[in-house]
Amino acid sequence: MSEREILLETRNLTKEYPLKNSFGIRGKQVVHAVSGVDLQIFAGETLSLVGESGCGKSTLGRMMTRLIEPTKGQLFFEGQDITGYSDREMSRVYQKIQMIFQDPYASLDPRMKARRIIEEPLVTHKVCKSKEEREKRVRELMGMVGIRPELIDRYPHQFSGGQRQRIGIARALALNPRLMVCDEPVSALDVSIQSQILNLLKDLQEQFKLTYLFISHDLGVVHYISDRICVMFLGKVCEIGKTEEIYGDPLHPYTRFLLRAVPSMDPEKGHKGQEILTGEIPSAVNPPSGCRFRTRCPYAKEVCGQREPELRNVGERKVACHMAGE
Ligand code: SF4
Repeated sequence: MSEREILLETRNLTKEYPLKNSFGIRGKQVVHAVSGVDLQIFAGETLSLVGESGCGKSTLGRMMTRLIEPTKGQLFFEGQDITGYSDREMSRVYQKIQMIFQDPYASLDPRMKARRIIEEPLVTHKVCKSKEEREKRVRELMGMVGIRPELIDRYPHQFSGGQRQRIGIARALALNPRLMVCDEPVSALDVSIQSQILNLLKDLQEQFKLTYLFISHDLGVVHYISDRICVMFLGKVCEIGKTEEIYGDPLHPYTRFLLRAVPSMDPEKGHKGQEILTGEIPSAVNPPSGCRFRTRCPYAKEVCGQREPELRNVGERKVACHMAGE
C-alpha cells in the first residue's frame, strides 16, 4: 500500500460552525462537525466514508473538494497543498476532482437539456475547439454512461431517476477527472436501479482508472463498492481498513454496532442481531470528554472519559479505541 500514489490527503482537517442565538448573533459555542481528520486516498481505490446521519461524513467530503472551507487543517491533492488555493487555482484542480450528488433531479437544472448539462464543464474549461467537437464529446459521454445519444435534447424531467443520475455521471466524467466524490449517489434510487448505477461506477473506474471517495449510510452498498472503509462517529474517525477485514472482524465497538444492524444477504441468517445503540446520544456542541463514543459504548472504562483514544495501527488497519487489539 505504501508504494501507491496518495491522490488526496487530509491533515488535521476540522470544521466547526459557530452557534447562533435566537437573535442570529454568533455565540462562543461551536458545533464540532469534523474534528482533526487525517486520511489518505490512494489512486485507483474506492474509499467509503460511513456513519449515521450527522457524523460529519458529508461535511468531510465537501471539505475535500473545497466546497466547504475547513476551520483548520490541510488538504493535499497530487502532493500539492491546495488548502489556500484561490478560486482560479482551484479551477484547475476541479478538472481533476468532480462530485456526484445524492438527488440527481435537484442537482440537474430542470431548464437545461441533457446536452447543455453535460457540455457545461467543457464550455467553462474551454476544452473543445468547436461546437461540433463539443457535441461529439457529449454524445460520446452519453454512450459511456448508457444513455442513447439521440436523447441529447431531452430535459431532466423526461428521464427516469436512474437516467438522471447517469447524466450527472456523464457531466462529472466530461473533463476526465482523477477523483470522483460520490455523495450518497444511489440512495434516492430504487434498489434495482441502485445496482445498475453501482455497476456502471465500477466499470467506469476500471476503464478510466478513477478514484472514488464514496459517502453512504448504506452498509450493503458500501460493502459492494469499497476497497477500504472509514467509519465516522460524531466528527471523528473510529476505524479505517480494508472492506473485508472490517466486515469480517470489526474492531471498534461502533463499527460492530453499525454492522450488526445490517440485514444479512443470507436468508438463513436473517438479521445479524438488530442491535440498537443505547445510551445518551452525544451532542456535537458538547462532545463527551475522552472518547466521543463512550456514552453509548458498553465497554467504556474510566480511561475512556479521561483520554481521547488516538487513531492507531492495529494490524493492517487503524482504530481509535483504547481497548482495540488488547
Ligand atoms: Fe468504547 Fe472506550 Fe473504545 Fe471508546 S475508547 S470505543 S468508550 S472502549
